Amino acid sequence: NSRDKKYKRILLKLSGEELMGEVGFGIDPKVLDKMALEIGQLVGIGVQVGLVIGGGNLFRGAALSAAGLDRVTGDHMGMLATVMNALAMRDALERSNISSRVMSAIPMSGIVEHYDRRHAIRCLNAGEVVIFAAGTGNPFFTTDSAACLRGIEVEADIVLKATKVDGVYTADPMKDASATKYDRLTYDNVLEEKLGVMDLTAICLCRDHDMPVRVFRMNKSGALLNIVVGSNEGTLIEE
Ligand code: UDP
Repeated sequence: NSRDKKYKRILLKLSGEELMGEVGFGIDPKVLDKMALEIGQLVGIGVQVGLVIGGGNLFRGAALSAAGLDRVTGDHMGMLATVMNALAMRDALERSNISSRVMSAIPMSGIVEHYDRRHAIRCLNAGEVVIFAAGTGNPFFTTDSAACLRGIEVEADIVLKATKVDGVYTADPMKDASATKYDRLTYDNVLEEKLGVMDLTAICLCRDHDMPVRVFRMNKSGALLNIVVGSNEGTLIEE
């Protein structure tokens, strides 16, 4: 492929909800196959891909806690949910002949490897898609924070956060027809204006370590590839 890539290594964050398709819960294999195809396009032009997948299609600690469960237990369930999503994504990637592996923040011998930064970088350099599972391994964090953390650790060029909306808006575009999209924001804009793009821990981490984040809609076929070759889809958050 002759298209010039702008990034050598990216960290892609997919929310769990992206995997559930129209079913409303769980995992839709058709959606996984589509994602695998889009990720394969990046691998095809030599982009190294780290992946963090959320767990919100299965369990979220905060929701379980609101329903009466212990919060930390709920967060443990949420992190386990991300491992299930990671396994399903690895399966879809491998079926598309894209080498991939799952590294979990929580040791889970016999199912997935334990996260090891240096090993992860070696695998990325070898062209494997590395799926970072179980979030940060700690309760009270989110997979957005995990994505930023892993992105910074493996020295990705950018964190790409796929959402249902095609960027960050002045207000919720589903509710407010006058809402307009930002092309670019600073970390401080996001923090000061309390734009609910990512949780504050994730944004602060990126700000402190100069990690740019692009929020975009994955739902649009080819969007991911477009970004990697330099198009300005969605909203860029940087200094
Ligand atoms: N979680 C956690 N620590 C982490 C990452 C995730 O405890 O470092 C738990 C938390 O309960 C969270 C759930 O896993 O609600 C699923 O992750 P998240 O809500 O970020 O998934 P997404 O919204 O991206 O699907």
